[in-house]
Amino acid sequence: MIHVDRHGPVIAIQMSRRFLGKPLYWCAAYWVVGLLIDSGPAVTAHELLGVMAQVPLEQIAITHAHEDHIGGLAALRDRYPQARIYASSCAAPLIADPTQLKMQLYRRLVWGTPDPVDGVTPLDEVEDQIRSANYLFRAVETPGHSRDHVVYFEPRHRWVFSGDAFIGGRDRTWAREFDLFGVIGTLQTLVSLDAERLFPGSGNVRRTPTTDILDKINYLSQLARDVAQLAESGMSSTAIAAQLFPKESDLSFWTQGHYSAINLVDACLSYNSLFAPPAESPALPSGKPGETPGSAKPATKRSTDQSDPIR
Ligand SMILES: [Zn+2]
Repeated sequence: MIHVDRHGPVIAIQMSRRFLGKPLYWCAAYWVVGLLIDSGPAVTAHELLGVMAQVPLEQIAITHAHEDHIGGLAALRDRYPQARIYASSCAAPLIADPTQLKMQLYRRLVWGTPDPVDGVTPLDEVEDQIRSANYLFRAVETPGHSRDHVVYFEPRHRWVFSGDAFIGGRDRTWAREFDLFGVIGTLQTLVSLDAERLFPGSGNVRRTPTTDILDKINYLSQLARDVAQLAESGMSSTAIAAQLFPKESDLSFWTQGHYSAINLVDACLSYNSLFAPPAESPALPSGKPGETPGSAKPATKRSTDQSDPIR
């Protein structure tokens, strides 16, 4: 099923597989005068073509190579062979060979398996900029949800097409491959863009993006602090997850544990370990006369404004 909504010159296209007459999980693509950002899942590709038949389509930009964002590409490539497709250089190989996504059964059922698509233009070949008749879109690297993720920023209107870099709500589960350090760093990048409108992968367009993103950063940061406190008292990940999230989310059941509260706790522990003071270093031999061994300046606690060693 498909739902189309207008936001000024932007058309939001929400797509979902129908199950017992209801949508299973919405994901969105956005059209802005000739440019389509993301392409929805394979299961709604035919319906997306129906919407695209009513507007011009010249270019396609992908935020990241998850199946609910690239599944419509093969059908679009068949119908619009001249349309150039852009994605990050990390995403292009996954789009060419979606078996590398290693999709679990629930993902294949909910979104369908994308067909391979060759000939994607890596964004670095166009200096991270996509131009259309009226707009300029700047790709901004935003890893965390996935390593290949970019958002598209239109600076004149301060629009951000954010894919899954911002996911609303209070997380109670997490997939093991998500990187909390990257997710929080990316949210801080999104704040710095000072967006007027945020167009996320869910289709739930945000009119107060900065407030919403800061709220998310605060939630995740507080969660990491809560986990640190409980871990210090000697509790295991399982015990911490049971205390913080006593009712296991349905998502954990439906994804056969791909998403779980324990993964979220482990992500917080991994995040905290980056900021914890390092264990006492071994005494260094004195290099200068009069200096006693071990008098080297102690390593200081890392702060959040240090450069990201992962990117
Ligand atoms: Zn995703």
